Amino acid sequence: MKIYNSASRKVEDFVPNHPDILKMYTCGPTVYHFAHIGNLRSYIMEDVLEKYLRFSGYNVKRVMNITDVGHLTSDADEGEDKMLKGAKREHKSVMEIAKFYTDAFFSDCAKLNIKTPDVVEPATNCIDDYIRIITKLMDTGYAYFAGGNVYFDTSKLERYYIFNDYTEDDLAVGVREGVEEDTNKRNKNDFVLWFTKSKFEDQALKWDSPWGTGYPGWHIECSGISMKHLGDDLDIHCGGIDNAFPHHTNEIAQSESYLGHKWCNYWMHVHHLNTNDGKMSKSSGEFLTVPLLEEKGYDPLAYRLFCLQSHYRKSLVFNWENLDNAMKTYNKLIGRVAALTPKGEAVDEEAVTALKQRFDNALGSDLNTSLAITALYDVLKYDTNEDTKLKVIADFDYVLGLDLIKKADAKRETEKKQKAVEGEFTVIAEDGSSDPQIEEKILARQAAKKAKDFASADAIRNELKAAGIELTDIPHGVKWKKI
Ligand code: AMP
Ligand code: ZN
Repeated sequence: MKIYNSASRKVEDFVPNHPDILKMYTCGPTVYHFAHIGNLRSYIMEDVLEKYLRFSGYNVKRVMNITDVGHLTSDADEGEDKMLKGAKREHKSVMEIAKFYTDAFFSDCAKLNIKTPDVVEPATNCIDDYIRIITKLMDTGYAYFAGGNVYFDTSKLERYYIFNDYTEDDLAVGVREGVEEDTNKRNKNDFVLWFTKSKFEDQALKWDSPWGTGYPGWHIECSGISMKHLGDDLDIHCGGIDNAFPHHTNEIAQSESYLGHKWCNYWMHVHHLNTNDGKMSKSSGEFLTVPLLEEKGYDPLAYRLFCLQSHYRKSLVFNWENLDNAMKTYNKLIGRVAALTPKGEAVDEEAVTALKQRFDNALGSDLNTSLAITALYDVLKYDTNEDTKLKVIADFDYVLGLDLIKKADAKRETEKKQKAVEGEFTVIAEDGSSDPQIEEKILARQAAKKAKDFASADAIRNELKAAGIELTDIPHGVKWKKI
């Protein structure tokens, strides 16, 4: 596989460190609020990467943190503590907030077919690991104690900026007014490893440490959690592009100073999902979440397809029209897979090899998911039997995660029931989409009408109306639309 490595800023051949295991680490969510669909773009692409590596035969061990402490609203160790902010907003404890939003995050992931990593570790579980690392950094002169906090001394490094060619002067640009500069720092980029002088008197979570009672900085958690579960080296580290600086830059600084050798070989960054008017936000504009997509009648997997249609290293604009188009494409795709019927024919191995090669070429070139979707259409068009096509589609869908086989089976089943109710009775959606639950209800209404049970038929019509679905009787069927 070829991967664009943000650290070398080149496309490189992927060579794992060990023959028997591939170590992958992903920065997890800060659980102070719902994830927006931008955050989830990153997790979708990372999920495709993990599944493609497994599809290619690697034995992947993937670890992800849950940030439930220490992440301030500004990445520069300034601003408010995000978790405390969430707790205050909802009049709950920090731990209640963490539990609620961690559950919400995994519920979103399940709807998007994002597999849970092998290890999911809350930052608050690993305080001893951070203390061990920070102690060594203090002992070896990479860290210093000032004004009650422990800082990493970036001037001790030969090279600090890994992902960009910033200078300290560049970073002064754009510093928000009203944010007080931390005068304890020896260098502008020094960052906090351990806070004891919390700016937040009411900081709920604190632990004893050799430097006083306090809590860890954000960056140290990913180094600590990765080393706890994956040891002293790492093959691939992923996150959204905003994590490259300062978060990942600081992770490298502290990890390599602690270890005394190179830590992670490949860094992959997913570019942002933006709205028409700019950055996606949890606090202003429409707060785009998976439950909101569902409320508006979209299948979350249509959003997954929307993400797969573009390359992870390009920013992507979200608007409803784009999602409508993805939804139409998704429904058509399911329709085309549903049109294939298993006939028990022998699988055409030559075709399987040729088709898989196309899929592999696509994802193997820096995870080109849109080309992988093209390879999926190639299967539909390929000159081979339908059993072979269904087998290859199922294999591809393990990586793509679009539930194509499951949804196609459901669609075939609905169509069968439809025929059983009345030979020529058709159920169509005005926008060309399909929804097995709605279709089933319409068929039940038709069956009731046929049995002259008009009360039940009316009850079903009213139930659908209450759910925002309007039915129109047409010759030999029913047309439905969302109102
Ligand atoms: P957070 O919960 O803020 O720590 O972010 C979780 C993940 O989402 C991180 O990997 C971020 O880099 C990523 N992320 C944040 N905003 C976006 C966005 N608009 N598009 C894609 N990924 C994002
Ligand atoms: Zn991280």
